[in-house]
Amino acid sequence: MSIANPVRLVEELLDEIDELKLELRAVKEQVATNEEKHHRSQQRELGLLKARDLGQLFNEMIAGLRDSYQLEYISVVLCDPDHDIRHLLAAGGSPAENIDGLFLVDALSGMAPQYVALRSPWLGPFAACDHQMLFPGAPAVQSVALIPLMHHGNLMGSINFGSASADRFTTAHASDFLAHLGVIASFCVENTVNRARLLRSGFTDALTGWHNRRYLQVRLKEELARARRDRTGLVCLMLDLDHFKRVNDTWGHLAGDAVLQEVAHRIDAQVRASDVAARYGGEEFIVLMPEADVQAGLKLAERIRSAVSSEPVALGNGETVTITVSVGIASVDVEPGQDELKSIGESLIARADVALYSAKSSGRDRVIVEGQ
Ligand code: GH3
Ligand code: MG
Ligand code: MG
Repeated sequence: MSIANPVRLVEELLDEIDELKLELRAVKEQVATNEEKHHRSQQRELGLLKARDLGQLFNEMIAGLRDSYQLEYISVVLCDPDHDIRHLLAAGGSPAENIDGLFLVDALSGMAPQYVALRSPWLGPFAACDHQMLFPGAPAVQSVALIPLMHHGNLMGSINFGSASADRFTTAHASDFLAHLGVIASFCVENTVNRARLLRSGFTDALTGWHNRRYLQVRLKEELARARRDRTGLVCLMLDLDHFKRVNDTWGHLAGDAVLQEVAHRIDAQVRASDVAARYGGEEFIVLMPEADVQAGLKLAERIRSAVSSEPVALGNGETVTITVSVGIASVDVEPGQDELKSIGESLIARADVALYSAKSSGRDRVIVEGQ
């Protein structure tokens, strides 16, 4: 700038002011866009938080996010090894099969290579070999964002955004909005699953109509107290269907459900009214036998084993399958002074589980007593 030429100086200053005005306008526009983005993302998150049941939540997570993010494709993958979420959805009147874009899987491994280290959103180009399981049949997806869903620090699935534009999701984009969305969505899934469980569970298992794990835990403590008082033994049978995953993999999980119901029925027909039988997990059952010893346990377990495998089970689709079961047995005598019933119960179940594990590893379709 030259002071010798005041007119020129003024012109230069005016130019500079114009440039600054332009910059200011750009900054203002950016702030407005960010505010708008922030507002929209808050609205979306509010939609997730307001969902009252799992059906609504998945609807918000899939159709809702697809519309507000204007995506060509969106899916939600969740690990559901015990088919817990599937049963809760069916019980709530929105079966998983009816929710487009929702994939409930037994395990995440093999779904996408990014899952190995997915802790924050992964943005990048779509690669059929890596991502086709997350975007099955999705036409024209060019770039993707995989947003992790976490539970207690573990990956439980992801929300997957797919765009037809190659520039939409790239490593150059900021992903903090998506990370925030992932945190909220993870919280909502956990919360809504818990609420659905609480509403339904009580002490009854929805699929088999049997008592559930919670009931077993309460009764186990009661039976241990009784065994201590009466100086009688308590025997625990832990049963697990053999190669059950194959039933699901071959005929689908509805056929698997039919098998679980029939096996529960067959076990039920063998136990006494004073025994405590419960569905302990996916395809695991526990029978507690009060006032019994290992010999009695062995007899009952063999009766159950042959009742399960002696006749094929109908799958509800005209086909049948022969099912076998492995059983682990443990027993306990509680001394009068012992009052840590909770840990005595946990150890009883853990020991039956170890015996079950040996029954599995020594060939399945057999009964093993602890320590043998
Ligand atoms: P193993 O002989 O070693 O026990 O093999 P497995 O295939 O029975 O055991 P694994 O633990 O690998 O698989 C159990 C399967 O049970 C996985 C899960 O999908 C299925 N499952 C768990 N709960 C349910 C349910 O309620 N319904 C159906 N259909 N399947 C279930
Ligand atoms: Mg099994
Ligand atoms: Mg099992």
